[in-house]
Order: sequence, then structure tokens, then C-alpha cells
Amino acid sequence: MVNTTIKTTKSQEVFAAAQNLMPGGVSSPVRAFKSVGGQPIVFDRVKGAYIWDVDGNQYIDYVGTWGPAICGHAHPEVIAALHEALEKGTSFGAPSTLENVLAEMVIDAVPSIEMVRFVNSGTEACMGVLRLMRAFTKRDKIIKFEGCYHGHADTFLVKAGSGVATLGLPDSPGVPKAATSTTLTAPYNDLESVKALFEENRDEIAGVILEPVVGNAGFIAPDAGFLEGLRELTHEYGALLVFDEVMTGFRIAYGGAQEKFGVTPDLTTLGKVIGGGLPVGAYGGRRDIMSMVAPAGPVYQAGTLSGNPLAMTAGIKTLELLQKPGTYDYLERITKKLADGLLQIAKETGHAACGGQISAMFGLFFTSGPVHNYEDAKKSDTAKFGRFHRGMLERGVYLAPSQFEAGFTSFAHTEEDIDQTLTVARDVMSSL
Ligand SMILES: *Cc1c(COP(=O)(O)O)cnc(C)c1O
Repeated sequence: MVNTTIKTTKSQEVFAAAQNLMPGGVSSPVRAFKSVGGQPIVFDRVKGAYIWDVDGNQYIDYVGTWGPAICGHAHPEVIAALHEALEKGTSFGAPSTLENVLAEMVIDAVPSIEMVRFVNSGTEACMGVLRLMRAFTKRDKIIKFEGCYHGHADTFLVKAGSGVATLGLPDSPGVPKAATSTTLTAPYNDLESVKALFEENRDEIAGVILEPVVGNAGFIAPDAGFLEGLRELTHEYGALLVFDEVMTGFRIAYGGAQEKFGVTPDLTTLGKVIGGGLPVGAYGGRRDIMSMVAPAGPVYQAGTLSGNPLAMTAGIKTLELLQKPGTYDYLERITKKLADGLLQIAKETGHAACGGQISAMFGLFFTSGPVHNYEDAKKSDTAKFGRFHRGMLERGVYLAPSQFEAGFTSFAHTEEDIDQTLTVARDVMSSL
């Protein structure tokens, strides 16, 4: 029997107070639960596959702080390494050996990366890569895909995924037209549209940036040949190919989606997992391109806290843990069990649904599908997703509070956690 009555008095108190202190009561929009309705729960602590709220309720977590927690929250080895690093200080603002260590690990792991620059978030990584793409090619236009999210820089806030999709905002006020006039968009998985854009904008397109597996419009996998096709088109038109692997890096495989699919872009952005729960982003790629970044070259980009010893330490320890043999086999196995189980239950309880999973990333849409792009994803029954989300929450399972976000597992999730989640899902879907 699963518990369906949770007490959330304290969460409500804290969140009510937060509304007067911070816009929407949060530090990042999707956390406010606007698209699923109801109040967010306020966290007290996290450990392994679980979170506890301020009222003392425990949940199985499939958000993993939006991706970083692939080893499980507060992994004892990461915490121990951080304790040790903390004694030596929190920020140097100067070179440290730790940066070399993490840089070498990233270069060894990610096929496209020959040199890397550390920053503090995925947004910063994408901003850095954007300037670099334009500087290297001496072209201003870029192609992005509908529903893909590359952080909140002006140029990328066109048909963007994640919170922008969740809240149904077309673009954001405050973004000048000039900032997005160079942003061309195409539907995901549509090579013909990309080719047409290249034809219409000959010698003007710096490059194509994409999530090689989409997580910010819900989970959408690339069709066979799509990534390969982009690699060919970018070569043909003298443009760069950029994989935004902020979400997929070290999650889809140790070497990211580029390792998984065997397609090597020119540049790559990273974040989330490589910070092990601390604020880190990175961009890297071909040595000839990266050599243009200051102070090696003229393309300016800097950061007071970039490469700080705490963030580097959490990243290094997290990658070390991921190198243990069998990690990705385990992640694949439990995540497949979860994603297949959810689909099967939806079918048995009479709900139109589709979804899937690659390694430790999964999704479920309440539409019969198939979902190849953001237009398809938008056919989902978001009201039903909201009820599903609330039902799962009340029974102790924490899912991303939006139909348009992927779910994440960690190697701290056990078979029993997955079984428990599926039992709860059956209960909830039967009552939708
Ligand atoms: C999360 C994310 C970003 C932005 O990273 P932040 O650290 O939130 O700034 C960029 N691109 C992708 C693909 C992401 O998933």
C-alpha cells in the first residue's frame, strides 16, 4: 500500500514567504511547478537516489538536480574530496593543478575535445562557444533547433526549450531584435530544412548548434542519420558543428552522445555532470579553433570563479566514479526497465503515451506519438501530465515538474527503487 496523504505544511509556509522575496519564489523558473499546478515541495536534504522535504517526507528522485547527480546525491566520495579541498580554500583566481587534471579527463573522454575552457554554467559555455563559432568562421548567423535549450543568452532565446517551453513564452521581452536576427531555426530531425537554410544563407552561417539527444523539450532521440547528415551539411557549407552536451555529456555515455553515435562535432559544450553538483560549465573542441580563445587568441571570455578548486574537485571525483567498470551498463539496464515499465503501464491503463530512454536519460509523453520534434511533443496532454506528476509526488516519487523535461537516473537508484516507482505509477495511471 503506498502512502497518498503527505503533509506539506512547512513547504507551503516557506514557499509562500519566498514569493515575496524572489520572483515567483524561486531562483530558476521551472522549479515553481507552474506547468503542473500545485505547490512545489521545499527540499531539506538529498542523499543517493532520495530527497527529503522540510516536512520530513522522503521521495525517490528522478530530477537529480537537473542532471548533475549521476552518482546519486551527495556521494560520500565526492563529499569527502570536497571536505579535503575546502581546507585549502574555495577559490584561487589563479592556475591550479586541479584544472589540469579535469581538463585531461575531459580531453581523454570526449572525442571532439582537444582543448577545453572551464566556465561556471552551461549558459556561459554556450555563450562562449557562440562567440568562438562566429570569430572562427567570420560569419554571424547560426542554426538552432526548435525546442532545444542552450541556456539563457539572448541569441539562443528563439524557440527555446526547457523553462521557455514549459511556460509557453514565445521569446523573452528584453531580448533585442538585433540579438536574435542572426538566429535561424529548424525543426529537430529535419535535415531538409537545415539544407534549405544553408542554401538561402550561403557563406553566412557560422554553424549549427544542437542537443544531440534532446532533453529540454522532453526526451527526443535523433533519428538514424540525422547527426551524420548535419556533419556532412556543415562540412559542405563550411560551417561548424557544435554539440551542446551540457545534459548528455558523461550521461548518454562516458564520452557523451558523440561517442554513443560516433559523430564528432567541431566544438562541444559541457556542464551539469562535469561539475558533480557544483557550478561548472566547459567548452572545448578542435585545437585550431580553441587556440583563438583569449589569452592564446583574440576571442575574449573570462570568469572570476572559473576553474575554482571546489568545482574542479567535485568534477574530478564524479568522473572517477563514472569510470568504474559496468557503470553505464547498469544505468542503461535500470533506466530501460523504468522507461519500458512506464510505457507498458500507460498501455495497460488505457493512456496514449510514447517515450524512450538512452542510458541514464528518459522521457514519457502523454501522446500516441511518435515524437520526432518539438511540434510532436506539444501534442502531449499536458493537463494529464500535471495530474500524473502530482499523483507521483503525493506517493513519494519526484519527477521533473514539466512534460517538456527529460528524467534522469543515477547509479544510486536500485532495482527496488525502480520497482517501487512502477508500482506507484500503476496506481496513479489507473486513477487518472
Ligand atoms: C541545462 C542546459 C543548459 C544550461 O546550463 P545552465 O548550467 O543551467 O546554465 C544548456 N544547454 C543544455 C543542453 C542544457 O541542458
